Amino acid sequence: MTEKLSTEAVFRGIDENYKRIRETVASAAVRSGRTPEEVRFMAVTKTVPPVFINHALSLGVDLIGENKVQELLSKLDSLQPPEVEKHLIGHLQTNKVAKILPHVSMIQSVDSVRLAEAIDKAAEKLGGKADILLEVNVGDEESKTGFPFDGFEENVYRIASFPHLRVRGIMTIPPFCEKKEDSRRFFCKVSKLFIDIKGKNIDNITMDTLSMGMSSDFEEAILEGATLVRVGTALFGGRRY
Ligand SMILES: *Cc1c(COP(=O)(O)O)cnc(C)c1O
Repeated sequence: MTEKLSTEAVFRGIDENYKRIRETVASAAVRSGRTPEEVRFMAVTKTVPPVFINHALSLGVDLIGENKVQELLSKLDSLQPPEVEKHLIGHLQTNKVAKILPHVSMIQSVDSVRLAEAIDKAAEKLGGKADILLEVNVGDEESKTGFPFDGFEENVYRIASFPHLRVRGIMTIPPFCEKKEDSRRFFCKVSKLFIDIKGKNIDNITMDTLSMGMSSDFEEAILEGATLVRVGTALFGGRRY
């Protein structure tokens, strides 16, 4: 009984959060000179039990992101609808690429040429092309994964040579900033990089997805040009590990 009540309470919380977030996303999109449809919303579902993920899906969420291969695989059978679009957004080890690739439509966290090569090989075996984003460590933080900001373009050219990859864009997590406005400087830097590379029209490099902005800063990210925001706690509440 208590269990049931608390599940209902969580559902109501997700309802309210979702409504509020979608309004903020839509207004930020418009303020950045775009339509609300031009900014994609991802629900980040790490540590979230399938019952709550499915509730978010019932509200209209059509894209989820998970950080860990094992956790994503363990949830596959419980998702409703099972075919909801899934992206991997956490660091991926090369030895897990073949396991996860058939289950996700994009790997957003490609942070080395070696990993790109492993995905290229796995995609070839599956007889298709893999959509990926290249992660950039815009604050050059030791604690974060991602390609260094300096020299990013050289790595783009190297990865463009893999025939079974489509580089769809860039993903980033900027350094934590006390003031939201300070995050904008990092988002702006990545946005410029994205536009620069897009303008070069490199083969295999599409550059239609700029994935940046999380619970605390997705509005600032959209104002700087994000086309996809990744939101976890603002939708589902705090994570319990
Ligand atoms: C956890 C995570 C998010 C979501 O973070 P919140 O602050 O909970 O919104 C977004 N992107 C990545 C890569 C993450 O690991």
